[in-house]
Amino acid sequence: MKSKRRQPVTTVENVSNPSTSAIPILVPCSDKERSDGIANFFKVVFQQDEHGKSTRSDTRRIRMLTQEDVDPQRIEQVLGDESTLLYGLLDLRQGLQQDDPLQRVRGFKKIRPGDTAEWSQALGESQFWARQEFPVLVTERLKDVRLVLWFAPEPPGRILTLALFCPDLQTGIFLKSFLEVRCCPYCERLFSPRANNIMYCTTAHRDAHRMNRYRRSKKAAEQRQKRTSPLPRTKQTKAVKLGKR
Ligand SMILES: [Zn+2]
Repeated sequence: MKSKRRQPVTTVENVSNPSTSAIPILVPCSDKERSDGIANFFKVVFQQDEHGKSTRSDTRRIRMLTQEDVDPQRIEQVLGDESTLLYGLLDLRQGLQQDDPLQRVRGFKKIRPGDTAEWSQALGESQFWARQEFPVLVTERLKDVRLVLWFAPEPPGRILTLALFCPDLQTGIFLKSFLEVRCCPYCERLFSPRANNIMYCTTAHRDAHRMNRYRRSKKAAEQRQKRTSPLPRTKQTKAVKLGKR
């Protein structure tokens, strides 16, 4: 049987990640936290007291998520056990973008911890299962995020801007990490890349991971060859003779 031709490996230099976005991500905040305004995009009722002073019915304080919110320690602190799901999805995304079976297998181990190692291996080997599971899981986790038009009161000015409002901090961190954080395929460390096309935390890890992939693909090719190559001549001759009997 003819083996499938492997897709060309996309390298760190020429992949761009269109998901990175400058759109603000908003979450509710407590009185103790610094606020960036109120949720003025929800329907409100204005009331006037006896002195003619107007008040609005919804004054929920909100804040924009910052880079500090997607620090790895912060992610684990806020998401707890769910951080494993996030790491697994980051692995699957990059495993799809880079056509990297190693990272897809790792992703499946994280998002389906009950599976056997062999089953995770089988799921991650081709792009098919990652393509099926990945968009469904991400869409489900982010189903409560809303696109809103926010009247931001703080500098750089009172401006109307599109924003993504998350009902809780967990969802906000999940979304922001998903848009702006990478999981290094080699060491599994989370990091925020300084450019969209950076997929590894260091160039040393990029090279080490490439070497791992090369070794793995070489080993797989050797195994395929062993399975498809004819028997050694002496045994083949013997087999033919036996067959003639
Ligand atoms: Zn690394």
